[in-house]
Amino acid sequence: MIYTQTICEIFVYFHTYFCTMHVNHRQLFLAHMAQTSPAPLLLDIVSAQGNYLYDRDGKKYLDLISGISVCSAGHCHPEIVDAVQKQAATFMHTMVYGELVQSPQTLLAQALAEILPPSLDCSYFLNSGSEAVEAAMKLAKKYTGRSEFIAHTNAYHGSSNGPLSLMSNEYFTQPYRPLLPNVRFINQNDLGAIEAVTTNTAAVIIEPIQGEKGAIPCDVHYLKAMRQRCNETGTLLIFDEIQSGMGRTGTMFAFQDYEVVPDVLLLGKALGGGMPMGAVITHHDIMQSFTDFPVLGHITTFGGHPVCCAAALAAVQLTKRELAQWEPANKGKYLAQKLKDATGREVQGKGLLMSLTMDSDQHCKQTIDSCIDMGLFTDWFLFAPDKMRIAPPLTIEYHELDFAVEVIAKASRI
Ligand code: PMP
Repeated sequence: MIYTQTICEIFVYFHTYFCTMHVNHRQLFLAHMAQTSPAPLLLDIVSAQGNYLYDRDGKKYLDLISGISVCSAGHCHPEIVDAVQKQAATFMHTMVYGELVQSPQTLLAQALAEILPPSLDCSYFLNSGSEAVEAAMKLAKKYTGRSEFIAHTNAYHGSSNGPLSLMSNEYFTQPYRPLLPNVRFINQNDLGAIEAVTTNTAAVIIEPIQGEKGAIPCDVHYLKAMRQRCNETGTLLIFDEIQSGMGRTGTMFAFQDYEVVPDVLLLGKALGGGMPMGAVITHHDIMQSFTDFPVLGHITTFGGHPVCCAAALAAVQLTKRELAQWEPANKGKYLAQKLKDATGREVQGKGLLMSLTMDSDQHCKQTIDSCIDMGLFTDWFLFAPDKMRIAPPLTIEYHELDFAVEVIAKASRI
């Protein structure tokens, strides 16, 4: 009897303890952390492994968005965790980027140069995608001696002032003006607009698959014509592959499928395998612009952090080795067909970066909420709130794709 009572008490104690923790973390989040959304999801995630997230109540969610295209190798892949742990125990921060020879950086730069064309042989490692865009804008100005940029309507390049200047969307940019001058916007895939690129243009920036409008691929003719125009005008062609890189669209980098090589390649997100990373990759001669007049062309204290570079090296090696097994292109085709069959809705995208169009923004939100209730974690797009974001870890299995389709079909009927 006493024994049973004790067990009950222990149960009540732990139950209360965990429930209190549950409430407290949400309260702390709301009370003390910056709120960037009026209605955050408030899921209290305590663990993430492979293709799943787990909340404090022990509920598991199949991850259909990979932390916005970051955890492409799945959560906590043992090879990435191992690399992080070993590097963290060896050395972490020692000196700002570019002064000391640090093997996690040099090995990563070498690994990237090995899988990229010879014209992309030199890397500058940064903390985020936005910082990579910032640095690339500075590099283009310095290299060309020009200040004009051509960007694309509905593209997303990050949230700091430089990338924000490359954003056409008034709702997101208006309160932060003035932004950088000399940015002109053209429409993706509009061949007629390419003439906007002139000898005044420092750089054109393009996402080969435009992410935040709902994963809209560029036409191959468009990219080829833009490459040609940039050659004629001495303009740098920058591909923002921060979201499309690292195998997400089927090839290691999206540009490889188009057979159009940019002058500058920007990476981030999945590059770090879950750790913060950004990279500007270009030819050594172009990167040389940061070396002198002024010296220290771009300064970053933590960019190229040894632990992040070790994680990125593991992520690059893993993706290179496993991409054929992960087969994002085939999984993407399989999922797109299943979704079309089950919902009759429009699917856009490439590989495992895709969108599913709902009836309205509200319908999309309701469907997403319902998916989350049913254990499927998904989201919407910044410039397409009527579209559901689908960008799972590339390690997702076919039976998990079937589960996702089943849940989405059910949820979207609500
Ligand atoms: N470019 C693209 C294409 C992106 O998708 C993002 C992030 N969503 C960025 C740049 C900015 O990256 P970060 O959030 O790491 O600054």
